[in-house]
Amino acid sequence: MAKEIVIVIDPGHGGTEGEATDGASYHGITERHINMTTAKAMYEELSSYDGVTVYLTHDSADTKMSLKERAEFAKSVNADYLISIHYNASEEHLYYGSEVWIPSTGLHYAEGYQLGSIILEEFSHMGLLNRGVKTKVNESGSDYYGVIRECEKLGINGIIVEHCYLDHDNDSSYRDEEEDYVGFGIADATSVAKFLGLSSSETGADYSNYVNVEVPIPETVMYQDLTPPNQCVIQLENEPQETGVIDLVIRAYDEDSALLYYSYSLDGGNTFSHLIPWMETKKEHVTHVRLSDITDSEVNIVVKVYNQYNLDTSSEPLFVSFSMDEDKNQLENNELKQNEAGNNAMENTKDFKEQETISTEVSSIKKAESFSLTSNIPIPSIIAIVLFFVLMVVMTLKIVFKKRRHKR
Ligand SMILES: [Zn+2]
Repeated sequence: MAKEIVIVIDPGHGGTEGEATDGASYHGITERHINMTTAKAMYEELSSYDGVTVYLTHDSADTKMSLKERAEFAKSVNADYLISIHYNASEEHLYYGSEVWIPSTGLHYAEGYQLGSIILEEFSHMGLLNRGVKTKVNESGSDYYGVIRECEKLGINGIIVEHCYLDHDNDSSYRDEEEDYVGFGIADATSVAKFLGLSSSETGADYSNYVNVEVPIPETVMYQDLTPPNQCVIQLENEPQETGVIDLVIRAYDEDSALLYYSYSLDGGNTFSHLIPWMETKKEHVTHVRLSDITDSEVNIVVKVYNQYNLDTSSEPLFVSFSMDEDKNQLENNELKQNEAGNNAMENTKDFKEQETISTEVSSIKKAESFSLTSNIPIPSIIAIVLFFVLMVVMTLKIVFKKRRHKR
C-alpha cells in the first residue's frame, strides 16, 4: 500500500489575549472563529477520502499558537502539506475575491500553484472573483508570510487560502451564515482530493483521473509583481448619443500579472466608483464600458486599473461635455427651415416629386443623427400631398364621367 499522504489544516489566528489573535474582524464576524468552522468542515470532508491522514494544528479558536509552532506541529506528524485557513480584509475596504499564497521556490511553488489553481476554480464556480495564486518575497529573498516561511524551513509545503473579504459587500453573500464557512471547508477538501487524485470508498467520490495543470519547477525565486500596470488609456467609443451616457474604451495591460479591477472617476480623479471586475473582450487588453448614470452636463473621466497585487495605474483625464440639447435645438431649427423651403417649392411648382425628395433628405438627416422621427413630422407637407392626390382623383373622375357622357 502506498504511503499515506499527511495533510495538516491550520485554522488561522486564535487565542483570547487581545485583538492580534482575532485576525480580521468586521460586521460582527471574527476571523479566528470562522477560520475554525471552515477548518473543521475541511477536516471532516477530507478525512472521508482514502489514503490520506488529516490533522488540525489546533481545534479551539481560543488556542494561541505561534506560526513557528504551527509549522513544528506539522513536522511532528510528518506532514506533506500545511493549508492555512484565512479570511481577508483590506485597510481601504476596497477589494473583494479569493486568493492563495504559495512558496516562491522549487517544487513547493509548482505544487502550490497546482493546488491553489484548483481551490480558486472551486471558489469562482461559487461566484467569487479569482485574485490569483501568488507569491510574496521579502527583501532578504525568503517568503514574506510567516507560516509559509516557517514551513519552508522544515521542508513542508505550506500555503495560505484567503477565502473572501469580510469587509466588502461584494463578498457578503459568501460570509454571512455558518453554512457559508462550512461550504468553503468542503470546497477546500474537494480541491485537495482533486490535486492528490484521491477517491473515497465511503462516499464514492473519485478524483483518481484528475489531471493537474502543468507547472514547471522554477529554477529561481518567483518574485511578486512589484510594478503597477504598464498602460491605461481611455477614449470615447463614439460621440455621446444622449445626455448622461458615455461609451468608453479602456486599453490597459500589465506585463507581469493579470489585471483584476478598474474603477472610474467623473471628477478628474478626486472620487472613484467601487471596483468593477476587469473583463477583457475578445481583443486583448481592451474592455468596453457604458457609463449611463451621469447627471452632470460636463464630466472629467479618469479610469484606474488594478493588478493582482492591488497596484494601480490611472489614465489621463478625458473631458466630456454634453451639449446635445443645444445641438438638438439647432437641428430642429434646420429641419423647420427645410420644411418651409419644401412648402414653398410645393406652392410654386406644385411638383410632387421634388417635395418627396426633400422629405427623404430630412428623414436621412434625422437617422444620421439618430434622433426620434416622431418628434417633428412635417404636417403641412403631408396636408399638401393629400390635397394634391384628392385633386388628381377628382380630375380623373371628371374626365371619366365626361367620356361616358360622350358615349351616351
Ligand atoms: Zn487571517
